[in-house]
Amino acid sequence: MRPGRFKPYYLYRFLRWKIGDRSPLTAVAKITNKCNLQCDHCPWWKRDIEDANTQEWFTALELARKRGVIQLIIEGGEPTLREDLEVLINRAKALGMLVMVITNGTVDLAKFHPDSYWISVEGVGETHDKNRKEGVFDRLVDNLNKNRDVNKTTCVTLHKYNVSEIEDIASFFSPLTNGIWFNFMYPYEGSKDIALSPPEQKQVAEKIIRLKRTEKYDIINSYSYLRSVGKSMDKKRKHCPSFLTLLIDVDTTMRQGCTVEQIEDCKCELCNAGCYGELAQAMKLKPDAINFLKRTMGLDSHKLFWLN
Ligand code: SF4
Ligand code: SF4
Repeated sequence: MRPGRFKPYYLYRFLRWKIGDRSPLTAVAKITNKCNLQCDHCPWWKRDIEDANTQEWFTALELARKRGVIQLIIEGGEPTLREDLEVLINRAKALGMLVMVITNGTVDLAKFHPDSYWISVEGVGETHDKNRKEGVFDRLVDNLNKNRDVNKTTCVTLHKYNVSEIEDIASFFSPLTNGIWFNFMYPYEGSKDIALSPPEQKQVAEKIIRLKRTEKYDIINSYSYLRSVGKSMDKKRKHCPSFLTLLIDVDTTMRQGCTVEQIEDCKCELCNAGCYGELAQAMKLKPDAINFLKRTMGLDSHKLFWLN
């Protein structure tokens, strides 16, 4: 069913899920593996798969929409390197999708018009540049300052090198973006030495809860998700709603499930991925997790139920 024909669209999809519908709601479109930065711990720019062309992406977006996708997350690599990014965004919007773009913030945000940007941040100043490149942090801050009106969320993947800077990051980016989202690095083979263990992640989640309670910073992780970090590790796979995600790879091959499987076998017992964790809580109808999804997707309240 197309949004618009039945107005409370998310409610409709939720009820369908309850009676066994497993069609995807969100697509993660990896439109390129290429990146203008080459962070040590990142597995994506090391892959050697050719990017599909614009027409192939049009076909993939139409197919995704037919399968039920209503939110499109465009990522890379660095998606803003593709000349046709705005064309792809417009096509997805014309198909009725909400569009998010994940970027490292090195390209002017005003060039493209998604519903919201997710800005990936490593840390403040040197910590950011250490993993990226010298001068990248200043370029990012300039870009954010120039584009105050653009809807954007700061996304921080926590690992051993930046975990001590949580408060600095929250303090610095709260005035610059529309919220801070902390996530935990998945222990891919190439980055497992710097990933936090589940007990460490649990401690960090407790610290984020304390910081969030002060209300000094705009931390948007839900309490429901933060409290779940490190719990029921043996049952993660069973409760992970990764089926809600359609992964579209750079060559437009599609698979429903978890992003990790694009790289290697899942180690669910070590995973506290924020996106799937928040979705799991939202599917239990936790209001704060639903609010998290609303904010990261740039959804107005009325759009949550009355999607056009
Ligand atoms: S900026 Fe992001 S996509 Fe690019 S290499 Fe670094 S982590 Fe990977
Ligand atoms: S690795 Fe994480 S996101 Fe992937 S299926 Fe397991 S629990 Fe879910």
